[in-house]
Amino acid sequence: MRVLVAGGAGYIGSVVTADLLAAGHEVTVLDDLSTGHADAVPEGAALARVGLHDSAPVLADVRPEVVLHFAAKSLVGESQERPELYWETNVGGSLALLEAMRAAGCRRIVFSSTAATYGEPESVPIREDAPTRPTNTYGATKLAVDTMLTSYATAHGFAAVSLRYFNVAGAAHGLGERHTTETHLIPLALQVAAGERESLTIYGDDYPTDDGTCVRDYIHVADLSDAHLLALPAPAEGEHRVYNLGNGTGFSVQQVVDAVREVTGHPVPVELGKRRAGDPAQLVASSDRIRADLGWQPRHTDLAGIVRDAWELTDPAAPRGSHARGGPR
Ligand code: UDP
Repeated sequence: MRVLVAGGAGYIGSVVTADLLAAGHEVTVLDDLSTGHADAVPEGAALARVGLHDSAPVLADVRPEVVLHFAAKSLVGESQERPELYWETNVGGSLALLEAMRAAGCRRIVFSSTAATYGEPESVPIREDAPTRPTNTYGATKLAVDTMLTSYATAHGFAAVSLRYFNVAGAAHGLGERHTTETHLIPLALQVAAGERESLTIYGDDYPTDDGTCVRDYIHVADLSDAHLLALPAPAEGEHRVYNLGNGTGFSVQQVVDAVREVTGHPVPVELGKRRAGDPAQLVASSDRIRADLGWQPRHTDLAGIVRDAWELTDPAAPRGSHARGGPR
């Protein structure tokens, strides 16, 4: 199929682009490179260096049969300080993209939604019919786009899927996380292991969990990518499906630190800090729906394995060449 990947120069979008190419699809990446990296766009994909608001001419030219939409601002803390940026990019930009799709006669879309749409859960594991009460602007903007997709499916016959990611980690195709501003636990802990940072701050150890630190559901980026390829043909015209994507197993911050120590063989000094505002104690997915509907099955559920794949791109002592598509992290 002719596929347009909005945000295909980012971490998840680039991995999915590589898998789309391997499956024989013709891929154009649309990315303004505001947070993505041109060298992350896999060979074989065309790159249109354009933002969502200016996407219409690209869609008119490419005439995609399906759009995968990863392009977004995604830092929770920043979303609290600069909400206008999040509403403008995530909601305004997505609206522009949907209108560009309509003008180009493309009505099939897979959208990157998030567990942050649920907010503080009433119970775990979280199912898709749980209440959506986001506790930050980032989650609110993603939920707004989910709602937009329901409207577009109903009114304009869109075939849409929202994939609600839990904590995505690991690496595939030599592509890993390299954010200029890193806020995520696994890459930060690996930077400490690599000697790039002195210590890791654990945000609170007085949560109502077994060891007092927050519990999250870490999903390998390769498993996440599989779900996108399965989701592409799934919905009928006029249908908007929502699927959670996680392993269904929770790991605490302390367990992640222990796994990083074990995998890297480096001490990872930690400091105890205050709770981070808006952090729920536990976020664990029920992915039963996508397993039942699409036969999705995560292949990399072992935390140490997820950490190891990410570490192979981080380790400064790794042999030359293992930093595929390297560049500074
Ligand atoms: N976390 C932490 N120290 C850090 C970064 C994250 O203790 O330097 C904790 C954070 O409070 C959360 C978990 O690690 O409980 C995962 O955070 P991350 O930012 O990776 O993902 P989120 O769950 O916020 O999407």
